[in-house]
Amino acid sequence: MTIGRGTPLIDLHAHTSASDGGDDPRELVEAAAAAGVEVLAVTDHDTVAAVAEARVAGRRLGVEVLAGCELTALVGGRVVHVLLYGDGLLAPDLGEAVEVARRGRHQRNLAIGARLLELTGVGYEEAAAIAGGSALSRAHFARALVARRVVVDVAQAFDRYLSSGRPAYVPAPNVPMTDAVALAGKAGGVAVLAHPGRLGDGERDRVLAEAVEAGIDGIEVWHPQHDAELRRRLEGFVGRHGLLATGGSDYHGIHKPSVRLGSGVDGNVAVPRELLDVLLDRLANSAAT
Ligand code: AMP
Ligand code: MN
Ligand code: MN
Ligand code: MN
Repeated sequence: MTIGRGTPLIDLHAHTSASDGGDDPRELVEAAAAAGVEVLAVTDHDTVAAVAEARVAGRRLGVEVLAGCELTALVGGRVVHVLLYGDGLLAPDLGEAVEVARRGRHQRNLAIGARLLELTGVGYEEAAAIAGGSALSRAHFARALVARRVVVDVAQAFDRYLSSGRPAYVPAPNVPMTDAVALAGKAGGVAVLAHPGRLGDGERDRVLAEAVEAGIDGIEVWHPQHDAELRRRLEGFVGRHGLLATGGSDYHGIHKPSVRLGSGVDGNVAVPRELLDVLLDRLANSAAT
């Protein structure tokens, strides 16, 4: 039963402090319950470490927590994000496989830190101090640059130093899309291309087609960065290819303050119950085979 008021909400994309979210697993689920979210997928980058603790809180608060993660994958010459869903991801060997990229991220963070230190005098140590116990990402380097007044805000930190093509940019470790799809298969789960709206108009169709070629199971249709027109087009694509449609807020807590659990930015995410039912059916059937 839902705790919040109004229609029960569904959110299939959310982060905790196990990756780059601001809330620890318990806080995430408390925020979800307060927002009226009935079903929440925990989808940290490169780890499923937060799922068990989120489930404990979920049982207490009446929020069903689905196991997931968000990997960085290469398809059609583009680095994209892919959401994996399925309880099988919690098995130790698959958890290990999910974490491969996380280990690669450490090397990447050292490389970003070395470049930034040379460029600005702000390096790895300061970003790590800001991250505290949570997984270090470019967001923490950006906040370190703001704290030391090298830039005025996080956006400027990305524009000047950290975005692709800027001098401290180092690509995130990634896996071929076919590996991400295979990992989901081993877990008895599904792989879903995350937020295709981040792709440029000129490349989206090609990347979508190549993701299908690589065996992707679904497409994230609802996302704060997708407008109604893009959603319609993605729904058409999903229908033509017999794929799953999913959606979520991509909640990061205080690190993305405009994004609300269950409803995105100004209510632009509203995942229909039917999408969840199709996903749950698919997960139950995959796990059984
Ligand atoms: P990483 O996973 O290390 O590549 O870092 C990704 C993090 O940086 C995520 O939390 C993003 O939301 C954040 N990020 C990426 N690009 C930008 C940007 N242009 N402005 C603000 N935050 C960004
Ligand atoms: Mn993130
Ligand atoms: Mn993403
Ligand atoms: Mn995400």
